Amino acid sequence: MNSAESFSPSYAEARDRFLRHSGDAGGALETMSHPEAGPDGGALGVDVAWFGPREAEGVLVMIAGTHGVEGFCGSGAQVDFLARGEAGRLPAGVAVLMIHAVNPYGFAWLRRVTHENVDLNRNWVDFARPLPANPGYDALSAAICPDAWTDEAQASGAKTMGAYLAEHGPAALQHALSGGQYRHPKGVFYGGSAPTWSRRTQTAIFENYLRAAGKVAIIDYHTGLGPWGYGERIVTEPPGAPGYERAKAWWGGAITSPADGTSTSAPITGDGLGAAPGLLPRAEVTAMALEIGTQSLAEVFLAVRADAWLHAHGDPASPRGRAIKAQIRAAFYGDSDDWKGMVAGQSLLACRQAIAGLQGRGRLTLARGPGAARVPP
Ligand SMILES: [Zn+2]
Repeated sequence: MNSAESFSPSYAEARDRFLRHSGDAGGALETMSHPEAGPDGGALGVDVAWFGPREAEGVLVMIAGTHGVEGFCGSGAQVDFLARGEAGRLPAGVAVLMIHAVNPYGFAWLRRVTHENVDLNRNWVDFARPLPANPGYDALSAAICPDAWTDEAQASGAKTMGAYLAEHGPAALQHALSGGQYRHPKGVFYGGSAPTWSRRTQTAIFENYLRAAGKVAIIDYHTGLGPWGYGERIVTEPPGAPGYERAKAWWGGAITSPADGTSTSAPITGDGLGAAPGLLPRAEVTAMALEIGTQSLAEVFLAVRADAWLHAHGDPASPRGRAIKAQIRAAFYGDSDDWKGMVAGQSLLACRQAIAGLQGRGRLTLARGPGAARVPP
């Protein structure tokens, strides 16, 4: 089979393809309807598919579309797993839970954020407590998200950020921009003021489906950081923590950590994987973000800022709006066969490794042919 055929050009087609393949693979399906509609007026929803015994001790959770527009990648990885018949080859005691488009609004509208303009992966904080501060973002807020998206405003913003870069260095600038902020609701990487619809929905899915599991592996699919097509395995548990060490044993030494500077991601606040163990107190949780590179960091940030301006001040249906939509789609979706093949291959390996880990079988590498060979840890 050709893995490129597992990927879809739009949210609506991705949803159809996911539902069709899930049904063909014998999945138990459920849909949570989103309160808003897509740009074409179509319905939006989170689709959940379960494969394997409901009482399974180990569950692999594949999450697509935490960052909306990044869902092209995760959806394709899920469909590819199904198209290859992997769901029919699960070992005893292991099930797979697929969450398709946990932020369906962002996927359909080609945005990273939810309909609340919130970055779902900065939203998992305790809103009853003081929210994390990001003084760097506060200082740069007007430069990052100007009221007018003109050439002059972009040049002026670039100058301000260039000065910040010269004074504080690239890591500080990336953290200021993307680490998460809670004071600028129309800005970027905004963590919100309350749990979003998508966070509440994901919480309910975890409670409904994973209550009985003793071991849970999570792969959360992301795009936009790193070299073209390379899948960085980002673990948010800090080095030395049991979840980090398990992730290293399952997925290998190439895992990275925002905490020790080995990741292309800045340390972030309110991420979903960090919150997962709190949602699943009975389970041993082993989680990573599979982050697939697309364009340069500068191009990706520019697209995210343009999109924030568009939805705060512009018209997504205008010619300018459509140009910005094409820009952000390209920033988060490598719409070519080589990129899709790389996503599918790296995802398949990571899923098989997770399934082996859930079985307590240690490391696993891909063998030739449809089977897989076990390598002692
Ligand atoms: Zn992401």
